[in-house]
Amino acid sequence: MARIAELLGAGRTYSFEFFPPRDDVTQLTLGHTIAELEPLQPSFVSVTYGAGGTTRERTRNVVTWVAQETAITPMAHLTCQGHVRSEIAAILDDYRDAGVDNIMALGGDPPADAADRRPSDYRYAADLVADVAARGHFSIGVAAHPEVHPASPDRATDRRHLAAKLAAADFAITQFFFEVHHYVDLVEELADLGVDKPVIPGVMPITNAGQINRMARLSGAALPGWVVDAVGEVDDPADVRRVGVDIATELCAELLACGAPGLHFYTMNRSTATREIYANLGLATARVP
Ligand code: FAD
Repeated sequence: MARIAELLGAGRTYSFEFFPPRDDVTQLTLGHTIAELEPLQPSFVSVTYGAGGTTRERTRNVVTWVAQETAITPMAHLTCQGHVRSEIAAILDDYRDAGVDNIMALGGDPPADAADRRPSDYRYAADLVADVAARGHFSIGVAAHPEVHPASPDRATDRRHLAAKLAAADFAITQFFFEVHHYVDLVEELADLGVDKPVIPGVMPITNAGQINRMARLSGAALPGWVVDAVGEVDDPADVRRVGVDIATELCAELLACGAPGLHFYTMNRSTATREIYANLGLATARVP
């Protein structure tokens, strides 16, 4: 397995994000998706972690399966919410022993159901970064919010906290966005604060109109009018996916043209849109040795 900091040092990374399956059927879907994406030779894949530790076992199972059964480098997401220090220490020991070298250290959002909320020793992602970094074993990623985290009082405060967090980590992956200037502005603002660690843009291909509206509401990402119009002009689900792939392809091309150190695809555990974008960008063939 590889450390993502070193992969980024060697060149551009192309990565995919999955969430842990809920049941046997979604587990089969994810297995199928990973089998279809593995030939694209992703630099790494990452697996999300449910709010408040609700997917602790399921995230672990997917991450360790990828580490042990595939040739792909995995990264485990971990959140502050609902964890005391001894639990985080046990989870990190377990990942190290399973050959996992990469951790995405996140604030996390509290579980929607108050009954699922548990005490936490960590308040901000930076607190978790400090504990993971103290191990000396893991390459550490953090989240960046190009359009500003919804809880930040203002843009400058958001960037200041992000710069401090990123200075202690190895790289950031961004929340999704639809217009390249959000990414360019973020990178420039971090540079002005003296931080030049790699910031990998997160790309969410629209595959379903309802899903993207929901995700945008939760993440604070704006859905530009031209995206709403382009998706609104088509009815057939296959046409929605085609429009979504075209929008994402153009965004990826612009990101690569302006020097992004990689592309991270939010796959929603499906492979088709990602494979189509790869083909449109000529990456599928370019990455075959
Ligand atoms: P933080 O860095 O803690 O920031 C949260 C807020 O606190 C921001 O407004 C920040 O400015 C502020 N802040 C930070 N430090 C300080 C400080 N010292 N003092 C005052 N304010 C401060 N969520 C999940 O539950 N599971 C996942 O697997 C997951 N994966 C994600 C992957 C990516 C790539 C991204 C972009 C997000 C992901 N999220 C995930 C969502 C994320 O957990 C939420 O957006 C969360 O609300 C913030 O996480 P953060 O790591 O940015 O938190």
